[in-house]
Amino acid sequence: MRKEDKFGFEKVIEVYDQKTGMEGVCVIHNTARGPGKGGIRMVPDITVEEVMGLARAMTWKNAMADLPFGGAKSGIKADPSKLTPVQKEAIVRAFARKIAEVMPEQYIAGPDMNMTEKEMAYIADECKDPRVVTGKPAELGGLPHELGSTGYGVALATKVAVEHDGKSLEGMKVAIEGFGNVGTFTMKFLTEWGAKVVAVSDSKGTIYNDNGLDYEKLMKTKAEKKTVTAYEDGKVLDAKALFEVNCDILVPGARPNVITKENYDRVKARYITEAANLPIPHDVELMLAKKGKVILPDFVANAGGVISSWCETAGMNEKQMFAVVKEKIEKNTKIMLERAQNLDNRKAAMEIARERVEAAMRYRGWVE
Ligand code: NAD
Repeated sequence: MRKEDKFGFEKVIEVYDQKTGMEGVCVIHNTARGPGKGGIRMVPDITVEEVMGLARAMTWKNAMADLPFGGAKSGIKADPSKLTPVQKEAIVRAFARKIAEVMPEQYIAGPDMNMTEKEMAYIADECKDPRVVTGKPAELGGLPHELGSTGYGVALATKVAVEHDGKSLEGMKVAIEGFGNVGTFTMKFLTEWGAKVVAVSDSKGTIYNDNGLDYEKLMKTKAEKKTVTAYEDGKVLDAKALFEVNCDILVPGARPNVITKENYDRVKARYITEAANLPIPHDVELMLAKKGKVILPDFVANAGGVISSWCETAGMNEKQMFAVVKEKIEKNTKIMLERAQNLDNRKAAMEIARERVEAAMRYRGWVE
């Protein structure tokens, strides 16, 4: 049985296709606020339980972002490194056909691990309805994450938190872990708004300059030399040193569990914006909050991408999407900060998300 609590799970659809050997699962946790939205990941060791946990997390993330989406997630059990492009396409198309009956009324798909705009195009093609999937190529009405919606949201959430303290971003020092999609746009916007990015890391290490790093020069270095550590005007440190540099704002934006009981007391920044998913365990977040740090939890700060997904299903263009990301991230970050009073931002955000889902369930007559 799939009942966990009053919220879900609504549906767990396990599918198998004899012709391609495709095995997959689509989990719909809660649709009170709208169709369940969550990406499809393709990995060899996926389990139903893992997909269920991710689907539940999407219910809270979408509700906190104040989107008319419920929570869902899908998994396809396959090792993409062992598939030819033709085999991968056949598996993705078979998965889409098997779950077509729940799309888009109960489930809207999107990309996750090992899935790109190419696979999203196959799903849209298979179901003949562009609304079944987000992350499509621009030619199919898609709003790709490469536009920078997540990094924009991370920068906005940070700005709101700083201004909530009666301060300004002007001259504040920033350190950003990861210089891919999220990290680059976070740096771009924070720099435009007056902050000074003093450290950036990638898988090869950290580049640090207390006088600030130049955004355009760093982008050029990363494109040409494949690593930020090749930037000429700075000191090269190891990747983990980024979390301990002297700065006001720290953005963990690459790997999970990077700030732990082992290194939390060496974090200098007052503001920690979680761009990556689960970069700090909750008990460590509380230890940091006790020391006066302001933590912006992942599912609030990195929701720009999922907000962009909703804009895509609503047929919006790039300009409209950026305006919606701004409005929602600013409003939701403020509400959370006001409720939490700097004690436990994650708990406050979770309460807001649950209240929103409960209210929708009540209107539908699902609960008293
Ligand atoms: P990406 O692949 O574009 O970039 C990842 C960056 O992290 C690369 O620069 C890589 O070199 C760096 N990196 C890898 N290992 C590192 C290490 N040990 N130390 C420092 N840097 C390291 O990925 P992305 O899309 O920017 O995503 C980054 C994080 O944000 C992930 O945790 C992802 O789940 C999360 N996220 C992304 C989005 C989105 O829209 N892209 C939305 C929500 C959350």
